[in-house]
Amino acid sequence: SRADITYFGAGPAYLPTDVLELASQALLDYNGTGLGIAEHSHRSELASNIIKEAKEDLATYLDIPSDYETIFMQAGGTGEFAASVYNLVGAWVARQYAAIAKELGTEDESAIVDALRKRVESDLKVDYIITGSWSLKAYQEAVRLLGPEYVNIVTDARTVNGGKFGKIPDQSTWKLSKDAAFVYYCDNETVDGVEFPEFPAVLAPKEDGTGPIVVSDMSSNILSRRIPVSNYSLIFFGAQKNLGSTGVAVAILKKSFLPPSVVQPGAPLLRKLGLPIPPIIFQYEIIAKNNSLYNTLSIFDVYIAGQVLKKLLRTYSNKVDGQQAVAENKAELIYSALEAHPEVYRIVPDKSVRSKMNICFRVTKVSISTPFTDETNNANSEKNGNVDEAEKAFLKEATALHLTGLKGHRSVGGIRASNYNSVPLEGAEKLAKFIDEFAKA
Ligand code: PMP
Repeated sequence: SRADITYFGAGPAYLPTDVLELASQALLDYNGTGLGIAEHSHRSELASNIIKEAKEDLATYLDIPSDYETIFMQAGGTGEFAASVYNLVGAWVARQYAAIAKELGTEDESAIVDALRKRVESDLKVDYIITGSWSLKAYQEAVRLLGPEYVNIVTDARTVNGGKFGKIPDQSTWKLSKDAAFVYYCDNETVDGVEFPEFPAVLAPKEDGTGPIVVSDMSSNILSRRIPVSNYSLIFFGAQKNLGSTGVAVAILKKSFLPPSVVQPGAPLLRKLGLPIPPIIFQYEIIAKNNSLYNTLSIFDVYIAGQVLKKLLRTYSNKVDGQQAVAENKAELIYSALEAHPEVYRIVPDKSVRSKMNICFRVTKVSISTPFTDETNNANSEKNGNVDEAEKAFLKEATALHLTGLKGHRSVGGIRASNYNSVPLEGAEKLAKFIDEFAKA
């Protein structure tokens, strides 16, 4: 039963049972209205209140400054890969338009557009820091939308780790473009178990407030640690890991990117420049102006997210800092259990970038009769397919103990324990104990 299991799935993730109990009631009859929450109009007052409270509680929990706007969107994290490109390239074009008009001292559109076309060719760049399969996907989307000539790889982590993800290259080697439309990174790589230990120093704003326009995908670690929100122009995340159920994505963005004249230079202008025109549902300023209700939003999903936030605020008087301490403690328990048996387990990412949320490891030992004493032997055993056997046994025994959802992503294999906020401390303790006992057996 639900009460027996601890679920370590990577997303959709486990949701707090009391939140689901409330949600199931709300689905049938919201606040005694006789209608369920998924049946009420998204334009009703109760729907706007649900959105308003979820936004306020998110802002309180993460200390989001007042010059930021939060919007609820659809199409998941993947939709945001595209939305971030459209909106921030649009903002870059609008800035250049204004700058060229000033430089030329003219308002003549055709003269400005001629100069702008050249500037797009010579200067437009979007920067991607590739540290795992999700930032790689975002990069590929940018290439698909813009063309490779406009997309710069700041660094590709595979180049420093034998062709695989698992490290973050030293920031001194990063190749940032001058005045990029934005610099993109994924704060926590869900598949590869790589998390930025802190905000990358080379992207920090300068004292005068200028600096790179930073975009981050925080789909799998949002709400688990404190983030310096004001260092970002855009933070986005799908809800289905730490926030709520599948179906909504959230964008937190600096309001200065919102005025239509700045964000959206207009489809005709983009067309003249050969740049992609955003579908209207991906235009941040349109969604913001309409209180996330430009089209029909799933209020039920926003409600669940809102209840998760209320629970977090009730649980931790010091808000995200409280949750962060718990997440670190749980991750430490699991990593320590793995480290205690290096002959059996190999943690995939480098120690300096280990994710607190997605703990990825290989089980490399099959039986006492085939001992592996060092990394080389472990690597050989992985090639020989012994790992598969060992990992199958690990997963089978874990499942028998009701520790579920531990299978690694299909693209990389192995084991992945997703230590999201809803995994209780006792769940992490149970897993750590099992890791130890399995190794000893
Ligand atoms: N970014 C990250 C870090 C993710 O983990 C995921 C999904 N697991 C995505 C983006 C894609 O999200 P979605 O499936 O909601 O499009």
